Amino acid sequence: MLNIVLFGPPGAGKGTQSAKIIEKYGLIHLSTGDLLRAEISAGTTLGLEAKKLMDQGILVPDAVVIGMIENKLNENKAAAGFIFDGFPRTVAQAEALDTLMTSHNLSIMQMIALEVVEEELTQRLLERGQSSGRPDDQNESLIRKRVQEYMEKTAPVAGYYANQGKFTGINGVGEIEVIFGQILFILGREESKE
Ligand code: AMP
Repeated sequence: MLNIVLFGPPGAGKGTQSAKIIEKYGLIHLSTGDLLRAEISAGTTLGLEAKKLMDQGILVPDAVVIGMIENKLNENKAAAGFIFDGFPRTVAQAEALDTLMTSHNLSIMQMIALEVVEEELTQRLLERGQSSGRPDDQNESLIRKRVQEYMEKTAPVAGYYANQGKFTGINGVGEIEVIFGQILFILGREESKE
């Protein structure tokens, strides 16, 4: 089983690289951002509550996203593996994910972090906002707030996986195919260790 956390700040390229990894390995993509946007589109109470925070660039409560991930793990028991994108975003979420994985007899094989400097992130997100129409990508101060949330609450999650010997960081600036090649190299290396 290939269970990977793809990590990095907003705009690092997690979605782009996730799509390529999924195509190659047939994994289930679990993006809490996508799941939350689906709740907003469906007009659920959870979606409406989450939207208030997302519109301010603030993280939604841990219990909300952990519950969503738990449901998805239960719904996909026969999966070849999972790629977690935009989750875990706090150390409490990382701990909860370990507990959930253990209860399904699974474990995270590796966290791969895409490293990109803040100026490049802002530029990329503003460009994405023009094509995707995502409201949180169209406002520079909101983007900066999301990056600040990342630095304060999410960046420490890297240390959590490093302590378990499961962290590899790569340069997230460059050709998409070159970055993907580095990801394949890391996954191949980890698979051969198993
Ligand atoms: P994303 O699409 O991953 O950039 O997420 C968009 C927004 O959804 C974030 O700015 C947060 O408000 C919220 N969000 C997504 N994933 C999480 C998570 N794991 N924990 C808390 N909030 C999240």
